[in-house]
Amino acid sequence: MTSLQPKAAPVVLSAPSGAGKTTIARALVEGEEDFAFSVSVTTRAPRAGEADGKDYWFVADSEFREMVVRGEMAEWAEVHGELYGTPMESLVRAAAAGKHVILDIDVQGARQIREAVPEALLLFILPPSMEELLRRLKARGTEGEGAIRRRLATSLDELTAAEAFDFFVINDDLERTIGEVRTLARAGAPPPGGCSGTLEEARKLRDDVEALLKQERLP
Ligand code: ADP
Ligand code: 5GP
Repeated sequence: MTSLQPKAAPVVLSAPSGAGKTTIARALVEGEEDFAFSVSVTTRAPRAGEADGKDYWFVADSEFREMVVRGEMAEWAEVHGELYGTPMESLVRAAAAGKHVILDIDVQGARQIREAVPEALLLFILPPSMEELLRRLKARGTEGEGAIRRRLATSLDELTAAEAFDFFVINDDLERTIGEVRTLARAGAPPPGGCSGTLEEARKLRDDVEALLKQERLP
């Protein structure tokens, strides 16, 4: 267990790729002073428009592995064939400033954070439907059909691991979703009417994605 004692709990956002967690994380940090974004380290190449030190710290494989050996990663995992990790420094700095640090990480990383920082809040973001998830993946325009298929296949594992998460949030209207995540983070508990999503919806989405991947061509 780490000696980190945050005044504001870290918030882990996980989701099937394309559900919108990066959009949500960025909006929270831009709009609120008590939220900070944890910039991850990755070996993947930058996408168009991504900046080093803002979206990720882009490093070579050897540099990443040296950081792991030096114990500088709070968690790390291989995702879609690339390495991704959260620098311990991000958590320490946010804790010192009394801010909720937002971690946009995969479910393997979420499990490690749960172990290292038990008070962390684990939120699972869901799209309104499988059709809308596919539409967002295509609209983002950063991957071809092969990469979208790989991301959907990874989503099956993510959705299975959703069982271990604290709360489920449907990313339908972006502003509404941001408000719900903000409330959850600050209160550490759901709003009066409950959360917009449920574990059952995560399970249904898993079944829908599984059926989709059996089709020869994506619709
Ligand atoms: P993730 O980080 O979960 O992979 P992104 O944040 O990159 O997903 O979002 C995927 C795409 O969906 C982006 O093009 C983004 O602009 C769009 N998007 C995100 N949230 C919404 C929303 N609530 N309504 C419509 N489009 C959205
Ligand atoms: P992308 O390449 O689309 O930015 O991210 C791919 C996946 O890696 C996403 O699920 C994202 O949340 C995850 N990811 C990003 N940073 C980290 C990290 O620091 N640790 C872990 N475990 N996963 C991460």
